[in-house]
Amino acid sequence: MIDLQHIQNLDATDPLAHKKAEFDLPSGCVYLDGNSLGALPFAAKKRVAEVVSEQWGKDLIKSWNCHQWIDLPQKVGEKIAPLIGAAPGQVICCDSISVNLFKLLCSALAMQKGRNVVLSQGDNFPTDLYMVQGLQDLLGETQCELRICAEEYIEQSLHSDVAVLLLTQVNFRSGQLHNMQRITKLAHRHGILVIWDLAHSAGALPVQLDDCQVDFAVGCGYKYLNGGPGAPAFVYVASRHQQTVKQPLTGWMGHRQPFRFDPEYSAAEGVHQYLSGTPSIVAMSALDAALDVFADINMHQVRTKSLLLAKLCLDLFAQYRALSALTLASPMRNEERGSQLAFAHPQAFAICQALIAQNVICDFRAPDILRIGFTPLYTSYADVWLAVSRLNDVVENKVFKEVAYQQHSKVT
Ligand SMILES: *Cc1c(COP(=O)(O)O)cnc(C)c1O
Repeated sequence: MIDLQHIQNLDATDPLAHKKAEFDLPSGCVYLDGNSLGALPFAAKKRVAEVVSEQWGKDLIKSWNCHQWIDLPQKVGEKIAPLIGAAPGQVICCDSISVNLFKLLCSALAMQKGRNVVLSQGDNFPTDLYMVQGLQDLLGETQCELRICAEEYIEQSLHSDVAVLLLTQVNFRSGQLHNMQRITKLAHRHGILVIWDLAHSAGALPVQLDDCQVDFAVGCGYKYLNGGPGAPAFVYVASRHQQTVKQPLTGWMGHRQPFRFDPEYSAAEGVHQYLSGTPSIVAMSALDAALDVFADINMHQVRTKSLLLAKLCLDLFAQYRALSALTLASPMRNEERGSQLAFAHPQAFAICQALIAQNVICDFRAPDILRIGFTPLYTSYADVWLAVSRLNDVVENKVFKEVAYQQHSKVT
């Protein structure tokens, strides 16, 4: 039986406990949805105010130089790099994952003459599949053909007609974690280029892009990196490909010398050519400041605590009889799971709404998944304890049956 004393001990000896104070969390709220929208770091709040009133407000256009706005995509990219195991010069911050995937898919397909297949898994995050479908329409199937397989057939589907393997390292619904090293190596054996989507891994667990010899990657600024709603995403292009690659969204920010206003496009060196238009400076500044919360910690500490939070959650589930109505839809084994737990229940939507009404924020993913995300920088063991006991109350007392909890909004 886990008692409160045990929980308090876990929090008292947690090496990351002090990090919670760096976030502006509403009091009384248990936030288990940082895998969807990271919480607000005080540093980001302060920076946004400063950028708006001091930089934009007072220094106006001079800020591009005097506050180095122009270098922000590169600067933020270099701050993200160590979190994903990338040496300098390979990561840049820009646009959304969707747009960046378009650029990378085009780059990778152009490098694979004679091959047209983009292989992905059917339960990948839909935007990843949609972007390939759009490209297939644009280029025609002879140039780009989406091939879908189930998770368990990925390795068997790596044939020499596949140009690009596009996978998300941590499945957004189940939390299933791929073995990046093994899959990348197998793909390379067949001459396949690999694009990894790190939406649920960057800032959640240690990632070793360089060590795994990954070709390309994209990732999200607003989930575990806490950059704020719609924060810009990032792109990784391995150094060894940077002389070869081209990308089709050839906007002026990716030009070698944008301020020469040359009518002829000439791509910037390296990963810099993945910039397209003018970045949103307010949004990117928020992400820049938010990343500083990672400055004095390492991703192994984050991963260790994430797994302990998940273990506590599972142990608590086992203690409440009513919670056996929810079926674990995530892998049991730590090395196969990201930083979330998914539970299936036919009434998962209503359960989630009832929990939110009790100030425990988690989310629902169609068709029947309740997702509980662990963000070790600001999730305490007491948070998990409180969340599971409230969840038990909701399920045991059938609170979720109330009509109010059946109403669907646009965003779930
Ligand atoms: C959240 C998420 C995205 C988001 O894409 P945007 O274009 O940045 O909105 C993409 N892929 C995965 C796997 C995600 O989880």
